[in-house]
Amino acid sequence: MTTPAHRESCSVIVVGAGLAGLAAASAALRSNASAVVLLERELKPGGNSIKASSGINGAPTRFQTQAHTDDAFFTDTVKSAGKRMRSSATERNQRIGLIELLTNNSLAAINFLADDIGVDLSVVTLLGGHSVARTHRGAGNTPPGADIVLKLLRSLQDDSRFELRTGCEVIKLLQSAQSVESDGPPTIAGVEILSDNKLTSLAGPVIFATGGFAGDTDNLLAKYRPDLAGLPSTNEPRPGMHGLLVDVGAHLVDMESVQIHPTGFVDPHSQFSTLKFLAAEVLRGEGGILLYNGRRFVNEVDTREHSQVLGL
Ligand SMILES: Cc1cc2nc3c(=O)[nH]c(=O)nc-3n(C[C@H](O)[C@H](O)[C@H](O)COP(=O)(O)OP(=O)(O)OC[C@H]3O[C@@H](n4cnc5c(N)ncnc54)[C@H](O)[C@@H]3O)c2cc1C
Repeated sequence: MTTPAHRESCSVIVVGAGLAGLAAASAALRSNASAVVLLERELKPGGNSIKASSGINGAPTRFQTQAHTDDAFFTDTVKSAGKRMRSSATERNQRIGLIELLTNNSLAAINFLADDIGVDLSVVTLLGGHSVARTHRGAGNTPPGADIVLKLLRSLQDDSRFELRTGCEVIKLLQSAQSVESDGPPTIAGVEILSDNKLTSLAGPVIFATGGFAGDTDNLLAKYRPDLAGLPSTNEPRPGMHGLLVDVGAHLVDMESVQIHPTGFVDPHSQFSTLKFLAAEVLRGEGGILLYNGRRFVNEVDTREHSQVLGL
């Protein structure tokens, strides 16, 4: 491949305009970044995040009405992690640290979306593996993923320091010259972008938020979970980008930990389509039951690990 024709720099580069990338761009601006460029491969931002239809988890929030202890979210999440917590002491501690990070910051995330961004998160439902209801969504008709993505994006676009570039695929993470020459950990100095068949590069610190690989059914999913290869998915059919991280020395963990969602809609006119529409968990959370030959056979809000055991 030829070298990029055009080079520019900016203070923060975010790759991927799903919820993780939008939230990262917002955090960078709130931390006084002078310019944030958000690069998105597709022509429209939103990724899989825009499809999220059940809600966002958080606790302890002012919207929860059921009595609960402050650490219920943490305790439930450790339990749901199942066999992954039965690893070495070091790994277990690392996982506990990540679960703490997720659960301890969830209140701030809900408050930020509700108070600063204006997302309605006033309806709370109990979903899979929850001892207490904690999945927040709005009372109106807009699904929570779309509401969060569109309002977050609007708030970013109100800031002159922010720029969204769509149709821009990051194809390489660039390392600093010193980092390539030294034996130490790599220092990422920017990205190489393919857009309109042209290669360009952008220099600056990089936040990589390109999402998962569940829609990459014949490649990454087949590699790490061959039993699921070719499975119909509600995720966007797109390649996972984990290889770009491996190319700069990252180690991948938990790649086999792919959740199976037990319910989806099947369009009778295209039964074998590999892209399916989700029958959201909230349908079960709000009282939908699962029947087999007319009989209820499972707790509909058990953890996803259980749906896997049942082969759902
Ligand atoms: C149908 C559906 C319903 C769901 N419902 C819920 C729910 O109710 N609650 C919940 O918590 N979770 C839900 N999830 C899961 C949730 O949507 C994901 O965990 C979340 O969207 C991940 O966000 P993300 O920003 O990491 O990735 P994404 O939203 O997928 O964003 C990644 C973005 O990166 C872009 N990208 C990828 N590679 C490149 C590249 N090389 N260069 C530039 N851009 C690139 C992609 O095009 C994409 O826009 C649901 C998922 C699906 C599919």
